[in-house]
Amino acid sequence: MTDNPVENASTTTPAPLTPLTPLTLLGLGAMGTALAGAWLAAGHPLTVWNRTAARAGTPAARGATVAGSAAEAVAANRLVVVCLLDDDSVEEALADTDLAGKDLVNLVTGTPGQARARAAWAERRGARYLDGGIMAVPPMIGVPAAGPYVFYSGSSELFEEHRTVLAVPAGTRYVGGDAGHAALHDVALLSAMYGMFAGVAHAFALVRGEAVAPGELAPMLAGWLTAMSGSVATTASQLEAGDYTGGVVSSLAMQVAGKGTLLRTAAEQGVSAELLEPYFRLMERRLAAGGGEEDLTGVVDLLRR
Ligand code: NDP
Repeated sequence: MTDNPVENASTTTPAPLTPLTPLTLLGLGAMGTALAGAWLAAGHPLTVWNRTAARAGTPAARGATVAGSAAEAVAANRLVVVCLLDDDSVEEALADTDLAGKDLVNLVTGTPGQARARAAWAERRGARYLDGGIMAVPPMIGVPAAGPYVFYSGSSELFEEHRTVLAVPAGTRYVGGDAGHAALHDVALLSAMYGMFAGVAHAFALVRGEAVAPGELAPMLAGWLTAMSGSVATTASQLEAGDYTGGVVSSLAMQVAGKGTLLRTAAEQGVSAELLEPYFRLMERRLAAGGGEEDLTGVVDLLRR
């Protein structure tokens, strides 16, 4: 310290006006490690636990407190975030912990049913419960420009109380008091993503072996998928209107007629159509039921059991 206040100000880190919420994180896999890094970088006191203790080295070096057991980690803070592999691992890790009075935030990917059962389980043990579905991969965590966010559902009180802490690693989207709804949104988006991946795989398979470099097709493919993504909003408005003929630009009848071209091209190129055929079968069923003037929205109803 010197007598010069300007010099002192430049060499000391001011304490935050409001102390940052301390929290516990269980699970230091790829995602847990990224989450830990974001909370530590923001200055939150963090207690961590991982089944394989060696993985705690990185957060420990950055200032985290390492607990010797899950029970000790849970006891350390009121806010407890879980980022383990799956629902079974949550059951196993939290079996011998005291959850009374805790705010449990479960970021493990699971089904809506698992989330609802886990919420009831946590509440029986005296905890408030919030379920989360992470819409990001680890490198996006703590990088707002990359657009990471987490769907949350369950206790609105818990969410409101901790939303600032929860917003440190990724954006937050609260989707309601039904604990299953974060998982429902998460899995809906992931399921659509796999449909897209399936189409992309088929497209690359078609040009494989021809003088079309994958890198040449890639920007066209990405651009076309982006252009077609407008159909999502059309489908939503047709479902809400209960009328699947409004704003139709490509009728189901026309699209079913064009199906043969896609299947013959696959055959000519020596490519299996196994990813496309199930969708075409649903389109044909809807056409047979009289939906020729509609868009593809009727397929949604055929999928409901
Ligand atoms: P990892 O496979 O990297 O890590 C799994 C973690 O779970 C490790 O900490 C592991 O401990 C722990 N674990 C597994 N089984 C048990 C058990 N029986 N008891 C205690 N701990 C256990 O997975 P991620 O970190 O990538 O994923 C964590 C969650 O985040 C998952 O639900 C995943 O779906 C979700 N998620 C992941 C994304 C990603 O891209 N990585 C994207 C979005 C969501 P140990 O080190 O001892 O093996």
